[in-house]
Amino acid sequence: MFMAAPKVILINYNCLVPPVAPLPLDYLGSALEEAGIKPFLADLVWADAPYRFLEETIAKNGPFVLAAVTVRNIDDSSFLSRKFFLPEIRELAEWLQQEWSLPVVLGGCGFSIMPAEVLRYCNADYGVWGDGEDTLAHLANRLHRGREITSLQGLLYHNQGQVKYNPPQYVSLPEKEHLSKRSLVDNHLYFVRGGQGNLETKRGCSGSCIYCADPLARGKKQRLRPARHVVKEFQSLIDQGIECFHLCDAEFNRPPSHAEEICRALIESRISKKISWYAYCSPEPFSRELASLMKEAGCAGINFGVDSASEEMLSRLGRDHDQSSLKRMARYCHQNRLPFMVDLLIGAPGENRKTITESIDFV
Ligand code: SF4
Repeated sequence: MFMAAPKVILINYNCLVPPVAPLPLDYLGSALEEAGIKPFLADLVWADAPYRFLEETIAKNGPFVLAAVTVRNIDDSSFLSRKFFLPEIRELAEWLQQEWSLPVVLGGCGFSIMPAEVLRYCNADYGVWGDGEDTLAHLANRLHRGREITSLQGLLYHNQGQVKYNPPQYVSLPEKEHLSKRSLVDNHLYFVRGGQGNLETKRGCSGSCIYCADPLARGKKQRLRPARHVVKEFQSLIDQGIECFHLCDAEFNRPPSHAEEICRALIESRISKKISWYAYCSPEPFSRELASLMKEAGCAGINFGVDSASEEMLSRLGRDHDQSSLKRMARYCHQNRLPFMVDLLIGAPGENRKTITESIDFV
């Protein structure tokens, strides 16, 4: 019997300013299409009346088998404003469930750092932690066909009043060339309104920095994307009129061999002549050769996660650089006329007036 393709509505409710293009929803859109599912995006960032906009989108394009809401951040990480985002997500989930009888699935980096707690708080039906591409597609297809879902890797669900969860799913990126498509989100609109193009060259980090959410959200094993896929994705975004980018890798230079490969591919494809880009990097490992290659590949600036220049604090934080790394890193950037900034993390356990002064004086 013929069965129409299931439809999933992907909802971006991250209204932080300046707006950041919802990269994961673009990746999810490609993955759903690849699995024979029709994705629709409701990007509430640009809607004057978000609920009315959502109502019209659902009425016009539904019925949907699932509503997927991305939780990029739990709060705004600002000591001054202390904005907590989950009440709004909970309200949205309740509205989707009650007004539209839509099952709601949550996912995203913010969700993945404490998935059961967020699921419970927001009272959503399902959660996906780790990479969402495969799990969301399987979930939509199985719900559409009335099949069981409880064995799906990466899924959280309710069972007899408890949240149950299966191990997170970390997909094999070399098999995901379709992620380069980038056609669901209006990336050009974000760009002309002051945002930058964004993409990932890898996921995961094997570091042990005590405060970092990245290994939790994206896994402790690094998974690298082939340079050819990254170049293709840059080209998709250039074709949309974007010429300035910020790479979303937690640390572009880990491992350095992959960073060098990406830079060489940008130079060989001559994309380096058409764009400028920024990246987050770790002070180690950072060589003179990599600094020079990044410059040649179009890098316009680096944000180094330095955290502290107090060696006592660096060791407490689980970092693997020291003051000599910071001096070297600055020298290589200056030699290559590569602008850079450093992020400091003030107030971690054990911090005191002496360690703060030491960091600031050194920087
Ligand atoms: S190296 Fe960077 S991404 Fe990796 S755990 Fe440390 S801070 Fe996080």
